[in-house]
Amino acid sequence: MSEVVIRTRNLTKEYVRDEFHVVALKNANMEVHRGEFIALMGPSGSGKSTLLHLSAAMDRPTTGDIEVLGSALNQLSDSDIAKWRNRHVGFIFQSFNLIPVLTALENVELPLKLTHLKKGERVQHAATALKLVGLGDRLGHYPRQLSGGQEQRVAIARAIVTDPDILLCDEPTGNLDARSATEVLTLLSTLN
Ligand code: ADP
Ligand code: MG
Repeated sequence: MSEVVIRTRNLTKEYVRDEFHVVALKNANMEVHRGEFIALMGPSGSGKSTLLHLSAAMDRPTTGDIEVLGSALNQLSDSDIAKWRNRHVGFIFQSFNLIPVLTALENVELPLKLTHLKKGERVQHAATALKLVGLGDRLGHYPRQLSGGQEQRVAIARAIVTDPDILLCDEPTGNLDARSATEVLTLLSTLN
């Protein structure tokens, strides 16, 4: 059996604000093995995004345990978690979340600024990632000069440029037309 990269035990997340009390996730148990390509399915509001955010250590559970790549996330401090995330996890959002005043190349270079790499190496890595997603001829384009499908491919390049162990995608095709959605899913499957 291959290595378990994400393991959750009785993971629960509750949101409390004023008189509102929402149980977003209740006793969720999940195991993901290295190399798996998994789609999480369920109706809107069923806790999919919550589970992804907890897996990416972008949020902490109310109760329960989560272990990712052998690290118990509740034992990491906030500053260690930021470093841990940058090293191990790539995240792709439905709405791309590119920075509009930066070019495709600059957007992809951004996560590398938190590493020891020098400028020249960062640019080289970013260009390689953009070539890998088929955008080698769009390095100097700004997000507004790209189609939705191309923007999401820039976001994928940004997510993989640090060579993460895990790629988490929250409805990555939700804002795309059918054809671009197929391209993005094919690309993700190929990367996997
Ligand atoms: P999904 O991604 O499956 O649509 P979510 O994980 O986004 O579901 O949300 C699960 C539930 O938690 C929903 O009822 C949602 O309204 C609630 N929720 C999510 N985030 C918050 C938050 N920051 N504050 C309060 N409630 C939230
Ligand atoms: Mg969601």
